Amino acid sequence: MNAPELPKLVLPGDYLGAAEEFLPGRGTYENRGRIYASVLGTATVDPRDRTVHVDARNGIPEIQEGELVYARIDEIKTAMAVCTIVSTGTSRRPVPGNPEGTVHISKAREGYTESLSGEFAVGDVLVARVLQSRPSVKLSTAAATLGVVAARCQVCHALLTAGPKELHCPRCGNREHRKLAQGPRPGGPAEE
Ligand SMILES: [Zn+2]
Repeated sequence: MNAPELPKLVLPGDYLGAAEEFLPGRGTYENRGRIYASVLGTATVDPRDRTVHVDARNGIPEIQEGELVYARIDEIKTAMAVCTIVSTGTSRRPVPGNPEGTVHISKAREGYTESLSGEFAVGDVLVARVLQSRPSVKLSTAAATLGVVAARCQVCHALLTAGPKELHCPRCGNREHRKLAQGPRPGGPAEE
């Protein structure tokens, strides 16, 4: 049995073959009988068992659903916060390629959130859970243990310190509110 013709470099979401013909392997996923690439990389078929797999280029790790990640907020929109995922939560493995993730306003905290800018600010570092990893990364900070782990003062950019109810700036005394992560952080103390 010959290996099928596959495009050498594939992108996440590229169709690789029918599930009746191949087995989905590493770096792929199956949806309605069709196998797709889940990572950017090189597609190959193992002729022994007809497993199609994609070797991630530059070893870009996959972000798994359910896993915790650290992300930095780049932009606050009306309905979502747009972040850059910087590392996995437990192993603190860096995530190269700077994948983007979003926190929808309904997933920022338990209950109703009037405005995301009342919970997050640009530059905050979050610990968040991955709700969906493809085609786009969707994150949640709703659980008590999830949310902001490092924030900078919006006035003077010093790192804020957590007080009993809110954050305060040791440099200029400014007080700010965030949806803070309570309890121990995955992978030990946060960077910085
Ligand atoms: Zn300040």
